[in-house]
Amino acid sequence: MARTLAMFTDISLCIGCRACQVACKQWNQLAPEEPEWTGTYQNHHDFTDKSYRLVRFFEQPDGKGSLTWHLMSDVCKHCAQAGCLEACPTGAIYRTEYGTVNINQDICNGCRYCVSACPFGVVAFNEETGTANKCTFCNDRIHNGLGPACAKACPTASIKFGYRDELATTARKRVEELRKMGFNEAQLYGEDQSGALGGLNAFFLLLGKPSIYGLPENPKLPQRNVVVDSLLAIGSAVLIGLGAVMTFRNRGGTGGA
Ligand code: SF4
Ligand code: SF4
Ligand code: SF4
Repeated sequence: MARTLAMFTDISLCIGCRACQVACKQWNQLAPEEPEWTGTYQNHHDFTDKSYRLVRFFEQPDGKGSLTWHLMSDVCKHCAQAGCLEACPTGAIYRTEYGTVNINQDICNGCRYCVSACPFGVVAFNEETGTANKCTFCNDRIHNGLGPACAKACPTASIKFGYRDELATTARKRVEELRKMGFNEAQLYGEDQSGALGGLNAFFLLLGKPSIYGLPENPKLPQRNVVVDSLLAIGSAVLIGLGAVMTFRNRGGTGGA
């Protein structure tokens, strides 16, 4: 396996220009879409089969009667343990030698298991092709020595591309810098490979809790939730069964008296 590649999105540098969103559409020849009113400058509400990068706008009260804007250019996380990949029954979703996660459009049968298996709501279904779609990590570009189009287009270097280990070092230093500057809640999301989902190969620097950005604090594979839910269901069934037996025995005892 080649050295793992990653994208590191430092939201403290994002100016919300959406050059990344446009560059992604342009490079991947994704068709235009009707704009959506979302209440902010964000367009669209969520990822679509024609929008693989999405600049999200969050407004938060600053406690002084005003609002703070948080901007985050969101994308598929290319998870080390990818729910989409594990759920795909046809093998259409695969991991490349660089550690990225891709969908082979020729093998996708449109079952949409991946759509519900992604903990981040990334995969979108294309009604015209009948297949699942998401960020490809610019598979064609990285195999030809080019960085992802979104990272290349970002004017503030908010999106960085490179080897994962080197980007992680850069990211940790940046958190220290920001904390010294007074951004006490600056933190990394998905950088830790011993953390949730084995780490994300598209990880983020956030300026506050993940929940501010609509990200799960502790993302889990849905398959793992199924195991927990199943165990709970079995436990409940056993307890109900025991209760029924006890009731029956008590009634039996009363009848014989
Ligand atoms: S973010 Fe979702 S679509 Fe992307 S690799 Fe992880 S599980 Fe798959
Ligand atoms: S890596 Fe490529 S496909 Fe993914 S969001 Fe960036 S430009 Fe789009
Ligand atoms: S191109 Fe860079 S600065 Fe502009 S919205 Fe995207 S991440 Fe933010």
